[in-house]
Amino acid sequence: MTKPTLGNPQNTIEVLQKYGFSFQKKFGQNFLIDTHVLDKIISSAGITKDDMVLEIGPGIGTMTQYLACAARKVVAVEIDKALIPILEDTLSAYDNVTVINEDVLKVDINQLAEEYNDGKPIKVVANLPYYITTPIIMGLYESHVPIESITVMVQKEVADRMQTGPGSKDYGALSLAVQYYAKPYIVANVPPNCFMPRPNVGSAVIRLTSHTEAPVQVKDEQLMFKIIRASFNQRRKTLANGLNNSSEIQLPKEVIIEAIEKLGKGASVRGEALTLQEFADLSNTISEML
Ligand code: SAM
Repeated sequence: MTKPTLGNPQNTIEVLQKYGFSFQKKFGQNFLIDTHVLDKIISSAGITKDDMVLEIGPGIGTMTQYLACAARKVVAVEIDKALIPILEDTLSAYDNVTVINEDVLKVDINQLAEEYNDGKPIKVVANLPYYITTPIIMGLYESHVPIESITVMVQKEVADRMQTGPGSKDYGALSLAVQYYAKPYIVANVPPNCFMPRPNVGSAVIRLTSHTEAPVQVKDEQLMFKIIRASFNQRRKTLANGLNNSSEIQLPKEVIIEAIEKLGKGASVRGEALTLQEFADLSNTISEML
């Protein structure tokens, strides 16, 4: 398999100049120019020749080259049509890559897993466009795509939010949602000088390994997530007031108060103090009372 040629500043500049490419801020384009970071992403994703990898936003194909060497099949979804001729060029030596020119939020990933991996769990690897990190990750989980792991570059702050637990200012709906589906692990912190152009935030690579068994038993998943969102929408309010003020869940105040009492928590408890298990217990109690 042809060795990657991209991943350093010189070759990246050469490709960009050859095609007269100009960066589109609206697509969150910050291309990787550091081979150590690329090696780290590939090794921490644990890709083997059995794997199908979905890459979101291949850019000029830098990480795609590394993925093509490690995986059986790579499917890369890129929104910017100006990058498609570039990808045809930089990926011409790899016969196991399919590029799809689409908005990843509009692609049926379940169907891709079916077509290229017989519906078996896939690995997602990406240097994500930061403006849509949360919709991409939540979209993958909520549409129940078969996923073994997601290894992605995200804004450092977002990686911290995914990994943290109660008691931290970063703890919120994203932490709980991610941890319901997967075990997060921050693999590396990555400074702005590893990208072209440099982003004005720090970045981190995080691996989310899907649970083989759900960490908590929930009777009504949708209700639990509505409760979680309502609790963090008004962070400074008590849990009871947050739930009572929510337009998403219409529950009688007595039901809310009784359910919180059953949880063994005082009336002044805030949502940010509850663990995933406690949110699951609260949701199960409420669904029994309705
Ligand atoms: N993977 C490349 C790298 O590491 O050098 C590029 C990463 S860059 C941070 C994000 C990429 O995602 C860009 O190529 C951008 O055009 C693409 N992108 C942005 N929004 C997208 C969307 N909704 N669907 C698919 N790709 C998208």
